[in-house]
Parts: sequence; structure tokens; C-alpha cells
Amino acid sequence: MRIGHGYDVHAFCEGEWVRLCGVDVPHSKGFKAHSDGDVAIHALCDALLGACALGDIGRHFPDTDDAFKGIDSRILLRRVVELVAERGMVCNNADVTIVAERPKLANFIDQMCVTLAEDLGISKERVNVKATTSEKLGFTGREEGIAAHAVVTVVNL
Ligand code: MG
Repeated sequence: MRIGHGYDVHAFCEGEWVRLCGVDVPHSKGFKAHSDGDVAIHALCDALLGACALGDIGRHFPDTDDAFKGIDSRILLRRVVELVAERGMVCNNADVTIVAERPKLANFIDQMCVTLAEDLGISKERVNVKATTSEKLGFTGREEGIAAHAVVTVVNL
């Protein structure tokens, strides 16, 4: 078994929704990003790549490449799952933590787990998504953006 960790941040810009774990959540801001800005999926991709010693998301999907402009991050996640499989590994479980003062995510967590499980090709019981605030401290507390952490274990196929 191997363990991987991922971390990502995206800043807010003008907008009406943010995409987190593949779910569009209504908000008074959007994400400034080359892709759709799905910070939680980016952290998850990095955790999977880390567990398999495959580098990081920037190496596989450079933000200078127009092919990835505005791309749905679920496509990136599914590609990462393929890379993991090519290594002879499969995700065993995933635990994602989203740090956001707002929007409130409680009502979206279940759908996020369903979406991630689908892309990871594992059962929903192996996927956990948590949301927390930073108690109004730091850039997340000032509502300048959202951060996400992910931890995964992967096992041999
Ligand atoms: Mg990112």
C-alpha cells in the first residue's frame, strides 16, 4: 500500500458558482483558473500522482497548454486514474478536505462523494469529503479563495 498527499489553492474572481469535486456550487464569486478551478479535484489528482511517484498535476497537464483551458477537472482526474492503473495500482480510499469560509458545502458533500467515486472507479464508501473553515483567518478566512487537501491510499491492482 502507498499513501499520497495533495494540496491546492485557487483564488476567487467574479462569478456565480464554484466547481468543487465536480459539483457546481452557487456562490457570489467564481474561480480564477486556467481549468475550471476545481481545487479539490486538483488536490486529489496530486495525491494520486504522489502515491505512485508520478510527479504532479502541473507536469501532466501544464497550464500553459491551451488544450487544458477551461477543462472540466473530472477529465483530468479520470486521466490520472488511468496513469495510476498503468502503474498497476488502484485507489483504495480518498479523503478530501476543503477549506472555505463560504459557500457552505454541507448540502453538496454527498453528491461530491458520488462524483469522485465514479471517477475513481471505487465505491462511495471509500470516498470522504469534508468541509471546514479557517475561522476567518488567512486567505481562506478573508474569502480570497479556497484551499483543498487530499490524502489517498493506493494498492496493487
Ligand atoms: Mg489547481
